[in-house]
Order: sequence, then structure tokens, then C-alpha cells
Amino acid sequence: MKLRALILLVTVVALAIYAGLEFRASRIDEPLYPSASLSKVMRLSEFDASLKNSRADTEIYEFGRQDGGATVLVLGGTHCDEPASYIAAYLLIENIALDHGRVLIVPRANRSALSHTTIGEAHPATFDIPLKRSVRSFRMGSRYTNPLDQWPDPEVFVHVPSGQELSGADSRNLNRSYPGAADGNFTGRIANAITELVKRERVDLVVDLHEASPEYPVINAIVAHERAMECASIAVLDLQLEGLEFALEPSPPNFHGLSHRELGDHTATHATLMESANVSQGRLRGRTNADLVVSGLDSMYVRAARINMTRVPYDEQGIPLKVRVGRHLAGFAKLVNAFSQLNPEIAPALSGIPTYDELLQNDLGAYLDPHDHP
Ligand SMILES: [Zn+2]
Repeated sequence: MKLRALILLVTVVALAIYAGLEFRASRIDEPLYPSASLSKVMRLSEFDASLKNSRADTEIYEFGRQDGGATVLVLGGTHCDEPASYIAAYLLIENIALDHGRVLIVPRANRSALSHTTIGEAHPATFDIPLKRSVRSFRMGSRYTNPLDQWPDPEVFVHVPSGQELSGADSRNLNRSYPGAADGNFTGRIANAITELVKRERVDLVVDLHEASPEYPVINAIVAHERAMECASIAVLDLQLEGLEFALEPSPPNFHGLSHRELGDHTATHATLMESANVSQGRLRGRTNADLVVSGLDSMYVRAARINMTRVPYDEQGIPLKVRVGRHLAGFAKLVNAFSQLNPEIAPALSGIPTYDELLQNDLGAYLDPHDHP
């Protein structure tokens, strides 16, 4: 009897330690290895002091300098169940080179959302990207701010200042919370910090990276605020000329809280957003695990595509993470090019970003290997 109690006790303690370590790991940021063009690291709390020491306080990586060239802001990890959004940002951080102008990158725009997964989605806590001799592990997060940081959800989320009503859970959705306010809820203050960053750092072009399920109507697309429409049109044409199908979507004027709408309306920037197709978010998917996140291959979606239930081409190749990251990097490069064509006097000069074909050929690990960095 005593032995059974002892075995039970040891088992319970072991499980508690295991669960505790997993829980702790979900809150520790993966190390990043910025390129030699890094000039400084700022924090979001410098733009909204209430975020200091909170789980939303996070790095803003600055590459290049304010030297008369344009400033471009990249947002990854607004929704942390959209891994191409932050892996593309990490890859930029580790490879970008700047000769003129400035690129600011916030890879974990909602860092709180990266500290948990969404209950009921069966998402893995982490997924691995293979390197030459090892693997590099990354966390999978949630669409929403961690409820430990903002709870409970209201019945109805009333967006400020428009008064638009959305479901209560969207009160923890960063991309429904722009422009945000200094006296807003936790997620609204993250939005406020980013809006302040755009204003104070005089950001000329914003590229907000996202993914969506393959059946979602706005997919493989660049969404643009009116001011950014000319720039986005040129970028989409350039992408199509290179064989990458992108749709051009105008930011709906009456749908509030989204980065492209509110950063466009409340600041002087050119606000854009990109979407790639991620089956691990999709409602039609089957077994959900770390492999699905990276391979993007789901047999249920192969069947769904056959009966035209997806908005993107989908076959036995799946839509792997490297394709989604490649599309984001290509879209980013073309947006910067288009902005430069329209504003040649402040055109930034950047390099080091792999092309779509290079990324497909060499795979993500070739650009995310810490041993390749000084
Ligand atoms: Zn998103």
C-alpha cells in the first residue's frame, strides 16, 4: 500500500515538473541572431509605458539609420497561430542588409499571444525547422492575447473610437484593436504602442504579415489602405510578372480596428497587410500537429480543393511554410521596390533577402542557421 502511494506520488510530481517546464518554456522567447546591419533595439514599452514589464513588451529591431531614406516597418506575430508571419520576420532580422534608409521589425507584435495556444485548436506548442546539422524549434501561439493578461472577455467588444461591435474574444485580437488608446485594455495598449511607433518614428510604409485558412476569401493577397493603393498595385503586378499570384484588396473603409485601416487613417503612413494560406488554421483540416504547420499538407484540403472549397490552388504538394514565408518576403521586397519607384528621393537600399526561388531551393534552414552568423 505504501509502495503504491509512493509510486503515485512520484508520478504526480514528475508530471507536475514536466507540465511546469512546458508552461515555462511557452513564455521564453526564442533567441534571434540579428544581421550586421542592426543599429539598435528598442522596446514597445518606449511607446506605451504601461506595457513595461508586461508580457506584451517586446523588441523593435532597427536596421539602418535615419539618414534621409524612408522608414519601413514590418509586423510579424500579430496573430501567433500564423507562423509564416513571424518566421518571415525572424528571417528578415537575421539576413537583411541596409545601405540606405531604415527597416524596423517587430517580430512578436503581440508577444502575449505567443505565450499560449488557443484552447480547442489542438495546435502544437512548438514546431521544428531543420538546419544543416540540427533543428531549430519555434513556438506556435494563438490568435489572441493570453487571457492571463486580459480577462474576462466582454459579451460584446466595442471598438474605440468607431463604436463598431464585435464578438467579445476580439477584445484580445490585436488586429481589431487599432489605433488603440493609452487608457484602453491590454490589447488596445499594444495597438496604441504600435500606432505611436509609426507616428514618432515617421514610418513611411507598414507591412503587416498574416496568414489565413485556404477557404478564407482574402488570401494570397496584399490589402492596402487608399494611400498605399498605388504602391500595392505596382507590387502586385510585379509579383504576377514573376509568376506569384497575389490579389489586390482595398482596405474596407467601414471595417474598423485593422492595421491597414487605422494606421492609414490615424497616421501619415502607407499601410499594407499580406495574407498567405495556412492549412493549420483552416476549419476543414484533419490531424493537427507540428508536421502540418511546416509541411502545410493536409489530405482533407486536397479533397476540399477538388470540389472548389478553397480559395487558393491546393494539391498533394501542400502549401509548406517555406512557400508562405517566401511569398511574404517576395511581397515585402516588391512593396519596398514599388514605394521606391514612387518616391525615388527617399528610396531605401536593402539587400540580403533571399528571393522566392532561392528560398524554395535552399529551404528555410539555410537562412535561419545560427552557426552561419558571426
Ligand atoms: Zn492574421
